[in-house]
Amino acid sequence: MNLQPDGSALVVLSGGQDSTTCMYWAMRHFRRVVALTFRYGQKHALEVDLARSLAAEAGVEWHCMELPFLGGLSGGCSLTDPSLAIEQESPAPGHYPSTFVPGRNLFFLSIAAVFARDRGIHDIVTGVSQTDFSGYPDCRDAFVKSLGVTLNLAIDEQFRIHTPLMWLSKAQTWQLADELGVLETIRTRTLTCYNGIPGDGCGHCPACLLRRKGYEEYRNSIDNHLKNKCIE
Ligand code: ZN
Repeated sequence: MNLQPDGSALVVLSGGQDSTTCMYWAMRHFRRVVALTFRYGQKHALEVDLARSLAAEAGVEWHCMELPFLGGLSGGCSLTDPSLAIEQESPAPGHYPSTFVPGRNLFFLSIAAVFARDRGIHDIVTGVSQTDFSGYPDCRDAFVKSLGVTLNLAIDEQFRIHTPLMWLSKAQTWQLADELGVLETIRTRTLTCYNGIPGDGCGHCPACLLRRKGYEEYRNSIDNHLKNKCIE
């Protein structure tokens, strides 16, 4: 990956753990970072407020775009349909979680590319991950690579889509946040919980369980490392 430390990058920022870590990653690698958040009818509009305040705190230029049609395009999504409860269990094999918003990253990244082009930005950063991808097909590396080719053909530009978390486990994502010096910011200020509770969240929805398991794995790896150092 050919990073341009003096260039600009656009980060798709949801206010969750992954995209916020990516915003700080981009700040390490690019001179100027712009964040773009989408309001697409998600139940937990608080994440948009968190994204705005996280960007402001980091000194990152922030924009919010309204995509009210996205939630209504397909029924049955518990993230956008107020009448549906968000399931607390993992889906059965072969089924997508009820939180799956079909095409979400396709829309987000396509709009981000047009938005970035208008500002002379060609580097786009997204926090998708294939490792702990929760069953969402548009978080996979093949999709992002394919979309990158499509966007370049569609708009006749040379966009680079950066996915710093693609092959990281949740524990490794916590480690990255720690290396970037923002572990506590990410732990206490971001919203990943499907029940809309920031920080450590409700503690029992699939997103909280995945987040906490990764955090505990990372903390244990540090403790073991320190223990081994003492034995040496
Ligand atoms: Zn939760």
